[in-house]
Amino acid sequence: MYTIEKAPAKINLTLDVLYKRPDQYHEVEMVMTTVDLADRIEFFLLEEDKMEVTSENRFVPNDERNLAYRAAKLLKERYDVKQGVQIKIDKQIPVAAGLAGGSSDAAATLRGLNRLWKLNLTLDELAVLGAEVGSDVSFCVYNSTALAKGRGETIIELPPPPQCWVILAKPIQGVSTQSVYQSLQLDNIEHPDTDGMVHAIKQFDYQGVCSRLKNVLEVVTLPKNPEVEQIKQQMLHSGADAVLMSGSGPTVFGLVQQESRADRIYNSLRGFCEEVYVVRILGCRQRLD
Ligand code: ATP
Repeated sequence: MYTIEKAPAKINLTLDVLYKRPDQYHEVEMVMTTVDLADRIEFFLLEEDKMEVTSENRFVPNDERNLAYRAAKLLKERYDVKQGVQIKIDKQIPVAAGLAGGSSDAAATLRGLNRLWKLNLTLDELAVLGAEVGSDVSFCVYNSTALAKGRGETIIELPPPPQCWVILAKPIQGVSTQSVYQSLQLDNIEHPDTDGMVHAIKQFDYQGVCSRLKNVLEVVTLPKNPEVEQIKQQMLHSGADAVLMSGSGPTVFGLVQQESRADRIYNSLRGFCEEVYVVRILGCRQRLD
């Protein structure tokens, strides 16, 4: 028995940090959406009580530190599953990039093993379990557009934003999410207009989405990674309607509505930046009127 799942990347349209909680987590508010750059994960049923994870990517651990492995272990223990699994990750999402690649692998593992092990859990139940693996895993279980609150695990689903092209560009050096949060000074934060972003999405207002892109973690990551600002400027210069760093970075994304402009930005970044992708937002609707 065998099954397969896609594990798509996410981008942050907003990222706000409200305060540090007594449990040391940061209370956040983030509007996130899912794009069609995805890892591909295969799950092979093992009759023996054994779990393995493999990936060809040298930055991804092939052991119990892998987030997909941790998700599988949690599901197995919680539901007393006697069967095992071999998990093969074909990594397409850049690692330590602010695109939630590891979290998405964990979420895809919960969905895939729910089928393979015939557990019949709902997505809501998987999202609650996912929060035990990592703060972004709950969002990734749904692969949608949502407002995430709490430490990221409280998900309020939104309609997808207006159709557009997303150009993703990742500088070579990865960024550690934990160290970015640790360096963030909570006084003097210029907060995003989260309610305005939610409203713009619900109103199908592309310009409203573009004008409200904001990520408070840029103040930490940009000074340490000058390439991030250079990529932002290059994208704007080549015609992007709006640009932002995703998550804790360093990946930058730009939004455009015309394919020809997406191509122009892509071409202007190749050579300048090692990893560049042109992708779509998942579940986008066309305006019908
Ligand atoms: P986020 O946006 O959720 O902060 P990220 O995109 O910045 O995450 P990841 O690609 O998820 O970062 O990787 C973060 C770290 O997690 C890496 O250093 C990597 O070693 C580890 N890791 C564990 N499992 C995985 C996995 N399946 N895929 C990628 N990284 C993984």
